[in-house]
Amino acid sequence: MDVITLGESMVLFTPKASSGLMRYAGDFSTKIAGAESNVAIGLVRLGHQAGWISRLGNDEFGRRILSFIRGEGVDVSEVKFDDSASTGLFFKEKLTADEARVSYYRKDSAASKMTSADLDEAYISKAKYLHITGITPALSESCRETVLKAVKHAKSAGVKVIFDPNLRRKLWSETRAREVLLELAGMADIVLPGVDEAEFLFGESDHETLGQAFLDNGASAVIMKLGKEGAYVASEEFSGIVPGFPVEDVTDPVGAGDGFAAGCLSGLIDGLAIKEAVQRGNGVGAMVTMADGDVEGLPDLKRLTNFMQRDYLNDV
Ligand code: ATP
Repeated sequence: MDVITLGESMVLFTPKASSGLMRYAGDFSTKIAGAESNVAIGLVRLGHQAGWISRLGNDEFGRRILSFIRGEGVDVSEVKFDDSASTGLFFKEKLTADEARVSYYRKDSAASKMTSADLDEAYISKAKYLHITGITPALSESCRETVLKAVKHAKSAGVKVIFDPNLRRKLWSETRAREVLLELAGMADIVLPGVDEAEFLFGESDHETLGQAFLDNGASAVIMKLGKEGAYVASEEFSGIVPGFPVEDVTDPVGAGDGFAAGCLSGLIDGLAIKEAVQRGNGVGAMVTMADGDVEGLPDLKRLTNFMQRDYLNDV
């Protein structure tokens, strides 16, 4: 296995009506959403082996999520069904053309019941990277302990840890979020914050100062996401901006960060230098913004290479 990740995936319901309060919605479209499974799917599409650890409710939504993620080629052998809790759901209302609202139905979900007993240490030891996000520790105390245990185990087995803070303000208080995210950022080899998350964690805004703050906190490298500008890297090997592939007419920005993580990891697994790996991340992130949905825009390596060489239109 190249990468193991762990976290919650949910069914996302979106009213089919283009705008307005959800109480009036009769028809919904549904999709599967989860930052960690998006990264795993992105990696598989780029030709790598990825495994996803989670718990799902023993219900129709849980079955659907498992089929979907397995169908994308991700190893789901470590996913457990929980008979006493439901699969998490969430709803995204488009209130007006530029105002959206997300409502979670995930409290006490099956995934929030994950415990460190769900971890098979031998499974994690065989990976090259463990990918974690700041969403999982926000789900419950037992999830926080599970993530910590997975990280400690990975480190003792020589598996590199890559951490995306993915701050979700609805899930916990700012004080607790900062405390836990800083602890995980200090244990990770590579941290992948958005620039706003980096500012939240360290209260600074200058890229170099923020980059140094992550290194001083314990990481070997930080790759800070800057939207269409690309990313700022601070590491022993290289520090500076890696320019993006700007998409001006974005179709759907959600999932760009997960695609970016998959692209960076893919480059690192293939032995690229950090700068080139981040270029790959920028390419995948940009392509994700050009399609509706979190995973629909994730490219295979051939389309990604064509896109990064700027002749991608010839490929369609
Ligand atoms: P998410 O909303 O998925 O959590 P994020 O906030 O973590 O994303 P962003 O900075 O929005 O992260 O995007 C991640 C990466 O995707 C960027 O660093 C960049 O490489 C790419 N990207 C995002 N938006 C664009 C864009 N408009 N044009 C080109 N590339 C983009």
